[in-house]
Parts: sequence; structure tokens; C-alpha cells
Amino acid sequence: MGLPILVDPRKLAIQGKTLKGSVPVTSLSRLASAVNRVCSDAEACLQFETEDSRTKLVRGTASVNVLAECQRCLGEVALDIRANFVLQVIADEVKATNIVKTRDFWIVEDRMASLHYMVEDELLLALAPANYHELGSCNGDALITHTIESGSEKSPFEILKQLIIQP
Ligand SMILES: [Zn+2]
Repeated sequence: MGLPILVDPRKLAIQGKTLKGSVPVTSLSRLASAVNRVCSDAEACLQFETEDSRTKLVRGTASVNVLAECQRCLGEVALDIRANFVLQVIADEVKATNIVKTRDFWIVEDRMASLHYMVEDELLLALAPANYHELGSCNGDALITHTIESGSEKSPFEILKQLIIQP
């Protein structure tokens, strides 16, 4: 089932509603331009709730399958993007500065807001700035020394271990 495009997040929070469903590929054009291809509709589960009478929250998960470019071999790598988030619904940026910095927010100026846009935002935030094949299944494994030099999320020790166990 598709998620509604426009919702009233504050009302949903007061009602304590949970919305579960998909966001079609056609609503994910910003994500599509950030990767090679969006391969599936996004699936999301969004739980609207109030923390106290003034604070409205949406707690959610979203996922989507995409093809992106491997930054080591420039081949295509399949990614399963998963986002987990808790957003506080606020009216404007000014209010954002008064909120505890550890919390993310969803700016909803009017009564209604686009749920599809928000889910796409969270998926974009969950997308790593650079993506790679797993070590051992990448055509660019020979370039691994380059990865060590430029510094990656894997420690050089870990990469050395990988090199040693390879035939
Ligand atoms: Zn690769």
C-alpha cells in the first residue's frame, strides 16, 4: 500500500497513528540523481507520537534498494539503504535552534507536509558519501594500496589481514 503524499503530522501525533507503506520510485527523483538507479519503491514505517503536549515526534524506518557506482572499480554496486530516525515536528528554523541539538527535526510550516519528501530526505541522509563493493568481490581490489593511502573506514590492519588470506 502506498503512503499518503500529504499528511497532517501534528494531528497524526495526537492520534498516535502508525503509517506503513511504500513511496514509489517516481517520488524519489532526488535520490535517483544521487545514485545510478533506484531499483525499488521505498518501504517505510512511521510512528507518530507526542512526548508531551507540545512535542510531536515521528519515529521511523525506511529502506530502498539502489545501484550506485563503486568508487574503487567504478562498477555498479547494489546497496540496501536503511534509515532509522526520530524527528521532532517544528514550525520553522528559528525553533530548531531552541531544540536539544541531539534531536533531528522535520520542519512543517503549514498544517500539511509531504511524507514522501521527508522519507526521501532520510534515505538521502542514510546514503554514504562514497560506496564500495565488499572486499574480495570488487574489480578494484588491486588498487587497495590506494585505499590505504587515502584512508578508508577500514583500518589498514584489517585490509592487510584481507590481503594475507587471499591466494
Ligand atoms: Zn568495486
